[in-house]
Amino acid sequence: MSESYIQDYIKAGKGVIAAKKLAKRIIKPGTLFLDVANKCEAEIIKNGCELSFPINLSLNEIAAHYSPPIDDITVIPEKGLLKIDVGAHFNGFIADSAFTINLDEDPKLQNYVDAAKEALDAAIELYNPGIKLYELGEVIAQKIINRGLRPITNLGGHELKQFNLHAGPFIPNFKEKLHNQVLKPGDAYACEPFATSGVGRVENGSYSYIFRFVKKVKKNMSYEQQGYMNKIQKNFGNLPFSPRWIINNNLIPKDKILRTIESFLGRKILDNYPILIERAKEPVAQEEHTIILDLDGNKIVTTQE
Ligand code: MN
Ligand code: MN
Repeated sequence: MSESYIQDYIKAGKGVIAAKKLAKRIIKPGTLFLDVANKCEAEIIKNGCELSFPINLSLNEIAAHYSPPIDDITVIPEKGLLKIDVGAHFNGFIADSAFTINLDEDPKLQNYVDAAKEALDAAIELYNPGIKLYELGEVIAQKIINRGLRPITNLGGHELKQFNLHAGPFIPNFKEKLHNQVLKPGDAYACEPFATSGVGRVENGSYSYIFRFVKKVKKNMSYEQQGYMNKIQKNFGNLPFSPRWIINNNLIPKDKILRTIESFLGRKILDNYPILIERAKEPVAQEEHTIILDLDGNKIVTTQE
């Protein structure tokens, strides 16, 4: 394996850093979620990267997977915790990073943000060759519990591979000894602690705004539908996408998009990612960075300035 892929991760990281910076600047009460999404995603492309998943803009008890749908009219509220999770790739090497904005700087909610930040910082500090994934989980949980909150235990970090956002191994957000893989040079992981005052688990909501192409199924399908399926695969590969991108790339006429997605879900051509809601509907903060070990075992946090 050549070192050049490390440079690709760093380029993807630069795209993500630029998008996060822009998000920080434009997110204000009253701004449309849709504007934030379109501008931040465009920023990634402007930085020479491609999108590795739709921007997630998840508010309060929604821990993840809200991405503005086509014609979304919701605006950023006056207060609450807004999590911004962005992903870029360069040549398939993915950078994945998230942060939380405390919209009215409420001191009580700031504790959630600080808990997630301290957890992530501690995990990054520990992230070195020889460390077991659950040891990262142990410090993550410790930092969050120290602030009187709970980590979300059914969410966690994940290995990154070329064109694969969620490769096998998992970084738990607590000391879950099942995850005993050892970090080694060349490894790339996204580490993502979530802090909440709820029960510390998420469950699927009723809606999905993010989809992914899984496999082709041609049986009993019109030529028109086959054409749509091919376009989705060609444009997004197996990475998650937003229906907004179908419009941006002019792949399917607007009035047919939702029906086509429904039909493709039924045929298992597509998979969906439901919004993830904290079980007790309590607020959630998230912080995430992509961390790689180069072939000498040096740590590079690709999404940190
Ligand atoms: Mn993420
Ligand atoms: Mn992630």
